[in-house]
Amino acid sequence: MISFYPGPSKVWDTLPRYMQEAWESGILSVNHRSPQFAQLWQELVNTLHQKLEIPENYTILPASSATECWEIIAQSLLGPGGNSLHLYNGAFGEKWFEYTNKLTGAAHRFAFQPDELPDLASLQTGGYQLLALTHNETSNGTALPDSFMHQLRMQHAAPLIAADATSSMGGVALPWGAADVWFASVQKCFGLPAGLALMVCSPRAVAAAEELGERNHYNSLLFMLDNARKHQTTHTPNVLNLYLLQRSLAERHTQAAVHRELVARQRQWLEFLRLQDHFEPLINNPVLQSTTILCLQGVPNEVSSLKAEALAQGFYLGNGYGPWKNDTFRIANFPAITTQEIEQLQGFFTHWLEH
Ligand SMILES: *Cc1c(COP(=O)(O)O)cnc(C)c1O
Repeated sequence: MISFYPGPSKVWDTLPRYMQEAWESGILSVNHRSPQFAQLWQELVNTLHQKLEIPENYTILPASSATECWEIIAQSLLGPGGNSLHLYNGAFGEKWFEYTNKLTGAAHRFAFQPDELPDLASLQTGGYQLLALTHNETSNGTALPDSFMHQLRMQHAAPLIAADATSSMGGVALPWGAADVWFASVQKCFGLPAGLALMVCSPRAVAAAEELGERNHYNSLLFMLDNARKHQTTHTPNVLNLYLLQRSLAERHTQAAVHRELVARQRQWLEFLRLQDHFEPLINNPVLQSTTILCLQGVPNEVSSLKAEALAQGFYLGNGYGPWKNDTFRIANFPAITTQEIEQLQGFFTHWLEH
């Protein structure tokens, strides 16, 4: 079976080799305070800076999931009563808002439609400590364009900006400087098993954490930062996944090249679907369409029969989400999926439509 589910998704074909290497190297049995672990972590940080083109002055930290990152931001950058404004158009952004509000009691929402961008000129951000955005909304296949991220940063310079890039980091080039905190888990664009996430913090975010001084949790951002300076972690981390991340990134092209390839594939998908004239992208405006997630709309009973037939043929497609549960399905356009696998899936689509 080939998983086109937008996370967890297909993992790299090279994973068996990397896993064998991890076992043979002995890294899986070492203590996370050992020099061997520190070396792995240091190598991984260097590789991430290099391959993902992360600015040198941004700090990279390991976490367990994107959901944990939501919580870390709420507890260590906001705290009880810390004001945040959550701009979202879909289910993941909404969940982030809800969890934050439970911890801070001071989260506010700015919900917008998936086929539009928030009007920045009329956006009131005065008094907010943090703006929370979902860079790539996995639930409906939309993304925030770089131009929007840069304008937001320029026009609303006071609050910290945090961006959930769970289904875009590792796939598309991110406008790092436009946000203070970026985070993602690895079971989407990184093509790895779940259980590891990355948090990338600007110097401003680090300074804000120091100012708040929150040290009440095992995963308080200040503890994570203290440990990272020693190339260590707060608790025993997912060493296997860290190893797999290092190995898979080291063999990859840099982000710009990966991004170009995904854009070309997404265009090819959209052209293929346009010619078939059967399923339409949920969002037609190319400015808002995600490069990494295709969200396609159709008649509900056709969508369900397509998904079932695809599964029977060995292609796992993503269900619709939230309000689009029944009339959409999703296809991941993640780097670990090969062009040949996409051709196979498109062959299935053609065949399905003929019958
Ligand atoms: C998948 C996803 C999450 C949740 O990731 P976990 O690793 O399960 O916590 C959060 N945000 C977005 C945008 C996602 O796509």
